[in-house]
Amino acid sequence: MAVTARERKLLLDGEWIETGAWHEVRSPYSGEIVGRVARAGSAEARRAVDAAARAMAEPLPAHRRAEILEGTADIVAERQEEIARTISDEAGKPVKAARVEADRAVYTFRSAAAEARTLAGEVVPMDASPAGAGKLAFTARVPIGVIGAISPFNFPFNLVAHKVAPALAAGCAVVLKPASQTPFSALLLAELETEAGLPPGWLNVLVGPAAEIGDVLVEDERVRLISFTGSAEVGWNLRERAARKKVLLELGNATPVIVEADGNVEEAATKVAANAFSFAGQSCISVQRAYVARSAYDDFLSRLLPQVEALRVGDPGEDETDVGPVIDEGAHERILEWIEEAKAQGATVLAGGETTDEGLIRPTVLGDVTPEMKVSCLEVFGPLCTVSPYDSLDEAFALANGTEYGLQAGIFTSDVRKALAAGAALEFGGVLVNEAPTFRADQMPYGGVKASGNTREGPHYSVREMTEERLVVISL
Ligand code: NAP
Repeated sequence: MAVTARERKLLLDGEWIETGAWHEVRSPYSGEIVGRVARAGSAEARRAVDAAARAMAEPLPAHRRAEILEGTADIVAERQEEIARTISDEAGKPVKAARVEADRAVYTFRSAAAEARTLAGEVVPMDASPAGAGKLAFTARVPIGVIGAISPFNFPFNLVAHKVAPALAAGCAVVLKPASQTPFSALLLAELETEAGLPPGWLNVLVGPAAEIGDVLVEDERVRLISFTGSAEVGWNLRERAARKKVLLELGNATPVIVEADGNVEEAATKVAANAFSFAGQSCISVQRAYVARSAYDDFLSRLLPQVEALRVGDPGEDETDVGPVIDEGAHERILEWIEEAKAQGATVLAGGETTDEGLIRPTVLGDVTPEMKVSCLEVFGPLCTVSPYDSLDEAFALANGTEYGLQAGIFTSDVRKALAAGAALEFGGVLVNEAPTFRADQMPYGGVKASGNTREGPHYSVREMTEERLVVISL
């Protein structure tokens, strides 16, 4: 399906501006031009921070912020198809998955609106110590300051919503730098927020060289918090460089799922087939490693492989497509190299392992892998899943933990004791029981440990990060 060519300016202090330079975006599927965007540099980044700081000098009351967020949710719901097509065109995401993303964003905004209305501090029990007696104290939650938001290509609408909506709920203005591969979804979101009544300066969107814009966000002291979602390498580097500000990191994973013999093997196989390959495995919580009790291993594979073979690989713009392209040539080559390297080290191809006639990577299942292979311990971020048998649950926990990452993990079991043991033993930010570890509802506290990050997103949790507690003590 042909993509629609677009042209967008940048949003800076409520104005859509041109810069004299353009950034072109091409479809990861067909190479067609998706459109061009005015290209920002450090001068625009500094102007954006000025605008955000000016906006925050005139705070918006909570009821107004909530109304804008609710209004945005309504518009997102009305324009779901336009949003989904934008995501699909620029990210190469199958349009049915893009519709789910657009739909989820409605709840991200609604949930942030609820936070705006209920944001409150607490009363401190001062007479609990002799020193405090005779005093009244309370805390208020105040906005932390201007927020620099940097977002990745893979959920170019809803992950932008996860930064912008809680920031506004918290009373913070935002300078947003979306991924260069997917700027149109972010600029569309900004248009919808403006339509919902967001005043100038509260959201500024810059597309341009990442390091140049990132440097301004790191160096300008008025940017009090950087909210980053993307790769671990870039994220931890930003955190090191911005030692005096809060840097929230939502990074990658090499997502494991454990299938016990007492679990529902059919359901586990179906969920792995759906969640290892959706959007060609380019979700930070795509299932990448399945560990299956040895007694259920053959049964699991016999249910998994036909479902993987049945996935429709092709044009992301078609309604029936399950698996489209990966984001660019570099990612494509790297994934194929990792498959070849694993094969050379003894892995067996159980499905896929090659490209289709039109050059897309087929959903790939590898057996006989070892924990040291790249496909086991690094983040593949492609349509690939490994399947390995294990002999004891402790061994499965050790295998699942055998990565520097720790975002989400899953287990299928009918034994509540094993579920609880998994909750205790798996070193991840979230442990999903009888559900794919790819599951996320937008109000959940979502985030990782170890190399996967240092925060939790979900409007309730983000708003806490984006506000500071101010204590007021009154001597009576
Ligand atoms: P990426 O290459 O790290 O890019 C993410 C963002 O960082 C982009 O906007 C990019 O801009 C920007 N960036 C790159 N270098 C920068 C620098 N030096 N200073 C400031 N910003 C810089 O990641 P990606 O390939 O887009 O996304 C995939 C990664 O994101 C995967 O590792 C995935 O697991 C992770 N992810 C995590 C979550 C989560 O919630 N935990 C969710 C989704 C994705 P340019 O595009 O202009 O280079």
